[in-house]
Amino acid sequence: MFKWDKLIINATIATMAEGSHDYGMIKDGAIGILNGRIEWLGTTAGIANSIDSLAKELIDAQGCLVTPGLIDCHTHLVFAGNRCDEFEQRLNGVAYEEIARNGGGILSTVRATREASFDELYQQSLPRFEALMSEGVTTVEIKSGYGLDFENELKMLKVAKKLGKEHGIDVKTTLLAAHAVPPEYKDNPDAYVDIVCTQIIPKIAELKMTDCVDAFCEGIGFSYEQTKRVFDAAARWGLPVKLHADQLSDLNGAELVAEYSGLSADHVEYTSLKSVKAMAKAGTVAVLLPYAFYILKETQLPPIAAFRKHHVPIAVSTDCNPGTAPSSSLLTTMNKACIEFSLTPEEVLKGVTINAAMALGIEDETGSIEFGKKAHLVLWNCKSPADLSYWQGMNRVQRVFN
Ligand SMILES: [Zn+2]
Repeated sequence: MFKWDKLIINATIATMAEGSHDYGMIKDGAIGILNGRIEWLGTTAGIANSIDSLAKELIDAQGCLVTPGLIDCHTHLVFAGNRCDEFEQRLNGVAYEEIARNGGGILSTVRATREASFDELYQQSLPRFEALMSEGVTTVEIKSGYGLDFENELKMLKVAKKLGKEHGIDVKTTLLAAHAVPPEYKDNPDAYVDIVCTQIIPKIAELKMTDCVDAFCEGIGFSYEQTKRVFDAAARWGLPVKLHADQLSDLNGAELVAEYSGLSADHVEYTSLKSVKAMAKAGTVAVLLPYAFYILKETQLPPIAAFRKHHVPIAVSTDCNPGTAPSSSLLTTMNKACIEFSLTPEEVLKGVTINAAMALGIEDETGSIEFGKKAHLVLWNCKSPADLSYWQGMNRVQRVFN
């Protein structure tokens, strides 16, 4: 009888355990895996004799790096259509307002997503999901928000769940019905918020199709008051909340989501010190989205020094979406977080592992290499964790365990 299913030896292990320093590094490390869980962790030398007979499969990492499986905690990867023509128009000098007037922008994605059948939506979303997987992502959060009515929001969430199921990847779903005002309610956004609160959230909650509720609190999205109503509805159904907060202006969104003990405030470029303190108190994670910052050529940086000072956990995510973050590369995003936001490579790796797990409320199960947690691991073709943020255009994944 073997003790473990798999045994990894001679690995440079970045455990990313919560509160650890220097990546929680174990040199010449070993990991024993049984039934998909980490059942042993230590040094290779610490394993008793006869290594060959301990596990069904022995993996010699030859000094290479092992990290937790990466977690992309904020994506809009399920959508239909393609907006590269808008990208081209903008670079040819056409103003965004004109593009929007001609039916472009987010509403073009809403139209295409509504028109797509379940299978079409699945097929169009699949390459983006596979691209993330190929870079060692083992947990993905996927939002709805391009359906903007019950049936189409449900269709998006079903596609998200199917992507996870078919690929053996943990998918956490987030209901983002309050992403934009649908065209049929453009003159009466409050009536749409009513629908979200009294119909969409209750029905989706009853079907158990979402893990969380999100909203876009912004001048071009929903107001502070409207967001509060959405959060109250989520609370009635026992659903945790997160928020697209303070991306383009400070509407006290991060403070609001902290008041509801929210999992995360995302974007947070314009977040005030008062809100940072509220987040620290509530344990709300700051999810930074450097790709959107880069695409929009933003100049207002998130209050990173304040997050550090007040010990607000920082996560990093792709924001994979057809408008402001046309990217399904978490590795590229990690580099952007270093360059655009001056995060250290260690902060960034925390941001896509343990802190991203916190942003999804799953830190007890995954996000770090610790005894008893899920054996979501990546073996990389490099030896230093900084390499993952440093070199671009090279996918060093050697093997993914999940
Ligand atoms: Zn987003």
